[in-house]
Amino acid sequence: MADKILVTRSSMPDYEEYCEEIKGLWDSHWLTNMGAKHQELQTELEKFLEVPHVVLYTNGHLALENVLAAMNFPKNGEVITTPFTFASTTHAIVRNGLVPVFCDIDPVDYTIDVTKIEALITDKTCAIVPVHVYGNICRVEEIQRIADKYGLKVIYDAAHAFGVRYKGVSSACFGDASMFSFHATKVFNTIEGGAVCFKKDYLVQLLNDMKNFGIHGPERVEFVGGNAKMNEFQAAMGICNLRHLDREIGKRKAVMERYRERLSGTEGITLCPLQADVEPNYAYCPVVFEPTLFGSTRNEVFAALAENGIGARKYFYPLTNTFDCFHGAYDINNTPVALHISKRVLTLPLYADLSLEDVDRICDVILRCKNGK
Ligand SMILES: *Cc1c(COP(=O)(O)O)cnc(C)c1O
Repeated sequence: MADKILVTRSSMPDYEEYCEEIKGLWDSHWLTNMGAKHQELQTELEKFLEVPHVVLYTNGHLALENVLAAMNFPKNGEVITTPFTFASTTHAIVRNGLVPVFCDIDPVDYTIDVTKIEALITDKTCAIVPVHVYGNICRVEEIQRIADKYGLKVIYDAAHAFGVRYKGVSSACFGDASMFSFHATKVFNTIEGGAVCFKKDYLVQLLNDMKNFGIHGPERVEFVGGNAKMNEFQAAMGICNLRHLDREIGKRKAVMERYRERLSGTEGITLCPLQADVEPNYAYCPVVFEPTLFGSTRNEVFAALAENGIGARKYFYPLTNTFDCFHGAYDINNTPVALHISKRVLTLPLYADLSLEDVDRICDVILRCKNGK
């Protein structure tokens, strides 16, 4: 049988390049706590993302938890968000003692449906946490208009949107803050890692203290913080990977174009269209299978791919508002579009080094599923 194809494969610099980057650590013996590599990556990212402030984290989830905590919302405050996302988004809200209020998604790009936000606002609403899902940019202008009208904060889960631009503006610049994930599976990785990006100066010290136990100075601990610092080896990986980002995104683009060539136009298959005014990062290749037209269900396609040694992902299934841990607290019928898509979507293998021959192999298996063949 041909080699297995996994759904993703982490981008890595050459071995020698990484070794060169970490060499100095054997001289300094400074391994974490905002060392030289951490500072260098932070500066590089502020430049690359064209945003005044970047605070680095050991992962994206803790970045999101901390920035929500930094907003100091009242306990049990309501946060409008979507269930068509990774567990992290909803968990960050709940773990802050806040209440997620689930809004449905747009049927075309799967971001929050802005026409349904205002009906969910109550006197307890304190924020909107939209997700740039698959790297698709949310309706940022309309979200800001609503937030301004009702005095709400907007924190973007931009985990998928690293390097994406909308109308020429970096995805790091919208709302009150944006969280990025630099997990191994993301377009840009620091092994594990993440960041909060924002414009307001006051958040810099607060977030830096929060990720370091609330320690403000050598003899001063101002609040009960946790530990979420990025270490020097993570930062060094980021410095290397950032050098090759353009090339990596270019290769992802070629893969994505091959998928489009092979799959678009097939009855019952929907590929997520490119958004107007958006420079994409080709983070994911979501495909929606409509069984009545395609002749096979998403689960049948998933099984056929698995039989052929190809890993796809039911991403995002199940919806976060159906998770066992919430014991049915949320009515999933409030988000019918999200439910519909989550039952039909598969993300196909997509990474910079995926060969076009492998893309053809994947598409052959999918097209053989047409009409249950
Ligand atoms: C990856 C991801 C996160 C969390 O990132 P980690 O770095 O793995 O903690 C949050 N939200 C979304 C949508 C993600 O895909």
